[in-house]
Amino acid sequence: MALSVLAWIFEGGVFATVAWSLQADVAPLGSWFSLALGTLATLIPSSPGYVGTFDYFTMLGLTSYGADRAVAAVFALLVHLLLWIPVTLVGALLFVTAQPRHPTSDSAISPSLPSRPNLFDCKTSPHIVVIGGGFTGLTAAYELSQRGMRVTLLEQSDAVGGLAGSFDVNGQPLEKFYHHWFTNDEHVMQLVKDLNAEKQVVYRATRTGCTTPKTFSV
Ligand SMILES: Cc1cc2nc3c(=O)[nH]c(=O)nc-3n(C[C@H](O)[C@H](O)[C@H](O)COP(=O)(O)OP(=O)(O)OC[C@H]3O[C@@H](n4cnc5c(N)ncnc54)[C@H](O)[C@@H]3O)c2cc1C
Repeated sequence: MALSVLAWIFEGGVFATVAWSLQADVAPLGSWFSLALGTLATLIPSSPGYVGTFDYFTMLGLTSYGADRAVAAVFALLVHLLLWIPVTLVGALLFVTAQPRHPTSDSAISPSLPSRPNLFDCKTSPHIVVIGGGFTGLTAAYELSQRGMRVTLLEQSDAVGGLAGSFDVNGQPLEKFYHHWFTNDEHVMQLVKDLNAEKQVVYRATRTGCTTPKTFSV
């Protein structure tokens, strides 16, 4: 609330300063009324940047307090430019200097994956506990850590992997259940790529069978 009041005071200050610099012959309340009217007018659907609506009603606000129409028009345009240019310049600067959304991923493969900005530094990063070290828990822990968060993963059994884990048969790991992905499972494929584990994936042609009581087709 206090910040809002402060913001409005500063914005009103812009209106009042421009009116003063133009030596507009208007009561002091005129520029503040102009602020309220021009800002309310931005609720009317119009062009980007409220070009037209903001200017007309800002001008109207000033003329209704006795200002000359030409002076009020210049006043409205100057206020609009003063409010628009600095914000747009700062936005453009941030846009140009911003980090790429997904620096390590191939956006052609997975355009919808969320970005991974390092949002938190070591002092402020939340500590997140993930319960369960199956595919879901491991992936969640990885994704969170990529976003700069501290993660502790708790797994009740001796090994991670859950249903997608394996057990030992004469020194060889054997999957608890059969597993495959299709190459168009783009999120899994992207994860494999991110983990630099592409060479560990075996690619085979799909051989899916379908049975009915009388037929079997592949
Ligand atoms: C027969 C079969 C075939 C399948 N084939 C495929 C396939 O081809 N392709 C595919 O994508 N998926 C396949 N799936 C599905 C896939 O295996 C599962 O969707 C996936 O492994 C589930 O992972 P999860 O992490 O959500 O759960 P889980 O693998 O069940 O992992 C949960 C983990 O949480 C742990 N845990 C539970 N409670 C606690 C607790 N209180 N504290 C600590 N740890 C806890 C468990 O020990 C476990 O390690 C198959 C599944 C089966 C059963």
